[in-house]
Amino acid sequence: MDSAQQYDLLITGGKIVTMDTERRIIDNGNLAISGNKIQEIFSAGELPSSYTARKTINADGKVIIPGLINAHSHIAMTLFRGLVEDLILQKWLERVWKYEFSVLDKDSVRAGSQLAFAEMIRGGVTCVHDMYWHYMAVIDLAEEIGFRLISGPPITSLGDPDFDEMIGTARKVLEQIKDYHFVHSIVQAQSTYTTTPEMMHKVYEFKGEYGVPFTTHASENQNEVDIVREQYGKTPIELLESYKLLDSGTILAHCVKLQDHEIDLLSEGSTNVVHCPESNLKLGSGIARIADMIEAGVNVCIGTDGVASNNDLDLLGEIRTAALLQKGYYENPEVFTTMQAMEMATISGAKAYGLDQTLGSLEPAKRADLVIIDFDKSHLTPCHDIYAHLVYSVNKADVDTVLIDGKIHMKDGELTTLDEEAIKAEVRAIGERFK
Ligand SMILES: [Zn+2]
Repeated sequence: MDSAQQYDLLITGGKIVTMDTERRIIDNGNLAISGNKIQEIFSAGELPSSYTARKTINADGKVIIPGLINAHSHIAMTLFRGLVEDLILQKWLERVWKYEFSVLDKDSVRAGSQLAFAEMIRGGVTCVHDMYWHYMAVIDLAEEIGFRLISGPPITSLGDPDFDEMIGTARKVLEQIKDYHFVHSIVQAQSTYTTTPEMMHKVYEFKGEYGVPFTTHASENQNEVDIVREQYGKTPIELLESYKLLDSGTILAHCVKLQDHEIDLLSEGSTNVVHCPESNLKLGSGIARIADMIEAGVNVCIGTDGVASNNDLDLLGEIRTAALLQKGYYENPEVFTTMQAMEMATISGAKAYGLDQTLGSLEPAKRADLVIIDFDKSHLTPCHDIYAHLVYSVNKADVDTVLIDGKIHMKDGELTTLDEEAIKAEVRAIGERFK
């Protein structure tokens, strides 16, 4: 006879899309959570009758997926939603920087980030990368509400900082946040043309010293490639290679304008790429050759980028765009699969930031970051292929319940940890400053 076992939470009856190494889907499964971890996953009929739980969620008619990972963003840019439109990247950046320097402070960044967390929970995102001003306000907020955040000090010549002071602050922050529960520390640079060689050498040192990943924007559009080539005689990818920064602990956002030898360099270095298709389209930057990169063995994940160039934080929408774009770009529907689209938003995002031992799939001992999607909808009927539905038919309004670290942040479509009305009111008041 089975001995009794009590879990904190049992999710029963749903289809579990594990994204584990075998990419198993468990029909009518039971997922047991204790504390902040997945304890066990049982197939139908496997759950012993003596096993109980303090709380149960009935997921009958629903699909359970790993929490989505938004691998590149600037989350407080929710404040700039719809503010700067119809401009090329460099002109767009100049306008955005002007607003950022005149409007932002740590309180407004905190408010914009709260709104972003609410929007992302509603969209099934449980972990996000953030690169932004007043980043400590975001780091403290994430730790406070229990949202998984990848962030850390920026190394940049933007704003003309004192070099020694910036490096001293970065060192202090990396020490301070290394024991945070929800924050995974990284070191970051805005781009190769806004970070001096001296600063990039410091980034290289930090990577070794603190064992943290590094991220930057790279080869986002042709203009950036031209600027960097004029300044250094190299493309952004070649320049990063000269800094010895192309390795498995580096995550490059965009990589739209790559030549074949640059894809080889990324592959040889096991460097990770974050695809941001909607931002690339909106800023007219182009379409990244994701299928070629994956074919070459590059780990590619996906991000929304900031809301000012998207204009939302909807990762489900982003994978749909990504899948459609690759097929259209190559004029071949076979180059990119629904499975690859789901991998980008889950396990590949975790791998990019060195978090695949704890995040990115639903498996025993991993963190209980998961999303329950209601499939009892007209637009999801019938269901011949779950992956096809997840990529092409599900939308964020179908997200029913969201857990991060074993804690329920949304249940039956209602946020449980954030006061959405208060957050919207605060952000609307900040919006008045732009007038
Ligand atoms: Zn970006």
